[in-house]
Amino acid sequence: MAEAVDILIAGGGPVGAALALALQGSGHSVVLIEARGAEAGAAPSSDSGAVRPIALSYASRLILERLNAWSGLDATPIETIHVSQQGGFGRTLIRAAECDLPALGYVVSYVDLQRCLLALPCSGGRIFGARLSGFDGTIAVVQTQEGERRFAPRLAVFADGARIAAGRAPPAYTRDYRQTAVVASVKTAQAHCGRAWERFTPEGPLALLPYGERCGLVWTVSPDGAARLLALDTPAFLAQLHAAFGDRLGAFTEAGERASFALALRYGQDETGTHSLSIGNAAQTLHPVAGQGFNLGLRDAWELARLARAAREPGSDSFCADYRRMRALDRRAGIQFTDSLVGLFSNANPLLRLGRGAGLLALDLLPFARRFVARRMIYGARALP
Ligand SMILES: Cc1cc2nc3c(=O)[nH]c(=O)nc-3n(C[C@H](O)[C@H](O)[C@H](O)COP(=O)(O)OP(=O)(O)OC[C@H]3O[C@@H](n4cnc5c(N)ncnc54)[C@H](O)[C@@H]3O)c2cc1C
Repeated sequence: MAEAVDILIAGGGPVGAALALALQGSGHSVVLIEARGAEAGAAPSSDSGAVRPIALSYASRLILERLNAWSGLDATPIETIHVSQQGGFGRTLIRAAECDLPALGYVVSYVDLQRCLLALPCSGGRIFGARLSGFDGTIAVVQTQEGERRFAPRLAVFADGARIAAGRAPPAYTRDYRQTAVVASVKTAQAHCGRAWERFTPEGPLALLPYGERCGLVWTVSPDGAARLLALDTPAFLAQLHAAFGDRLGAFTEAGERASFALALRYGQDETGTHSLSIGNAAQTLHPVAGQGFNLGLRDAWELARLARAAREPGSDSFCADYRRMRALDRRAGIQFTDSLVGLFSNANPLLRLGRGAGLLALDLLPFARRFVARRMIYGARALP
């Protein structure tokens, strides 16, 4: 016998967890299924000791405040962003003050973000250590520690990241960037002073994000290069990092555990699902350049909850069509923005390097252009003219 529920959320990553919170008080019954946390039957913990930094935009802070999730987060403000390219001239400095904001964004760790969202009281049910194993448009089959359970949701929301739960169509578009992000928490001789650094190299962008007294590193290199970086001992890793980043923060003195993520662009799997929608990475998995993925996914969750509050029949064809239409522009803009940054900057073409240098220089000289880029990164497509 299937249990009736209005909305079933498959995946308790930060986006699915935020959706469950945003649906509180909507009048709909909600169940969230999260695959991790199997051992304790409790909220998931990190499967690696590496700190994976997530840059939240100022707009995401506003949403998290409304979900009562902000005060529980250990967030480091980003006051300036320095953008440069390795081996070429031109650089841009974007300041929070010129955007009339206290911070351009904030850095948190992925694990803390997920844990904080899942620890907040929620009127819906949450089942940890349970996996959605199938959805045929009517019945969702869930494998729990106690055995199989069946649900009959009016709407199934896939928030299962890039893993593709059974019952969800695979992405229509997938492109392997042939880049791998190496992440770690690192310490530098000089203080970061609230500055985030995005340094483009021919292999991919290298980001250093202020995180407490340390910096969160997201270093994009070729898959072979990543394997080499992971195999190095700490002093050799720090020396290579210093060589790639330069001297702006002095020497790199410590590094925590390292982890790596293969990078690909995936989207477009969600056009035909019946009584189902995908949000967050399940709908679009982006390159981490410019830190857009979670921010876009949080807007997915927020807008879906807003629509569901006003709907009697979440999961009806018209409801799903309205949601897809409402999110289309922001999704497309997020995909194009990150994908074109990767294409434009991840190469050693001398002509392009010259053009990029001129672009960075122009941006640095034109406050209105800088403000536009900052607003685009903070608010998504709503900042487009
Ligand atoms: C190196 C790196 C750096 C990044 N930096 C940033 C940044 O600075 N800013 C930013 O905005 N974004 C960033 N991102 C992107 C961001 O991490 C993702 O966009 C975000 O994690 C998406 O959240 P999600 O909840 O949609 O998916 P996920 O985080 O992938 O969570 C999916 C959840 O679903 C669960 N699940 C999977 N299958 C099932 C199933 N069958 N049943 C039940 N549960 C299931 C998983 O256990 C997981 O908990 C970065 C990504 C990477 C790789």
